[in-house]
Amino acid sequence: MRLDGKVAIVTGAASGIGRAMAHRFAAEGARVVIADVDQARSESAAAEIAAITRGHVLGLAMDVTDEDSVESGVARTIAEYGGVDILCSNAGNQIIGGIHELAYSDWKKVLAVHLDGSFLTTRACLRHMYPSGKGGCIIYTGSVHSKLASVLKAPYVTAKHGILGLCRAVAKEGAPHGVRAHVICPGFVRTPLVEKQIPEQAKILNMTAQDVVEKVMLKDTVDKQFTSTDEIAETAVFLAEQTTLALTGQSIMLSHGWFME
Ligand code: NAD
Repeated sequence: MRLDGKVAIVTGAASGIGRAMAHRFAAEGARVVIADVDQARSESAAAEIAAITRGHVLGLAMDVTDEDSVESGVARTIAEYGGVDILCSNAGNQIIGGIHELAYSDWKKVLAVHLDGSFLTTRACLRHMYPSGKGGCIIYTGSVHSKLASVLKAPYVTAKHGILGLCRAVAKEGAPHGVRAHVICPGFVRTPLVEKQIPEQAKILNMTAQDVVEKVMLKDTVDKQFTSTDEIAETAVFLAEQTTLALTGQSIMLSHGWFME
């Protein structure tokens, strides 16, 4: 098993991409913490994944925008599993609308989850990873919107670009401690976050839902396919299992060719 003996925290893992990463990590032998806002959803996802993989999976409530909640969640992980080797900073939200119409509170809500959440969880894990002497790997869920902009998504685009900066800073500062950092940048993935956006965009753009999928979301892919949660989880395992600093500070595009570097 590729992650035997490792401990991983995955934020936002009660759903979608995070859940798939947590599942795959557990299947590869890692002990996994599902850290999501709601205790019951985290516990239920953990129980289901543990039952299927026969792995060790703990579900806990963590609001990544709340310093105390992050600190206590990471402390609980270390108390339960003895350390933390992998952090997937994945929790996310989305509020769409034109910049001229956006409420300041909505702008802040998006930046808080993606940027404050990434900082707080990274800091809490680095404080353990540095003295452990074992290094570690921090994987951020960025987006194609870490590299390009779309209309109606200014807070999200801003936050996802910001995550690239944090990742590169962590790669530089973490290197002497054996800590690597990467950003996985998916194209559209059919999770609840995206299902919610389809009718919202259809209304604003005056299109059918089908047109939003074909003419907006998948327009520039090479095969008109959504990125799958399995494709992302496989990439996360690959990044987490590396043992040298050869691969660090990278952003990996999983967008079915939508964005090519
Ligand atoms: P999702 O809605 O299925 O899951 C997001 C999870 O984050 C939810 O379980 C939610 O409860 C949790 N969350 C939200 N705020 C939180 C907080 N303050 N603290 C802890 N958890 C919180 O969405 P998803 O599509 O799986 O999104 C996961 C990540 O992938 C996000 O960062 C998102 O921006 C990114 N992403 C998604 C897509 C896509 O097309 N779905 C594409 C690129 C990037």
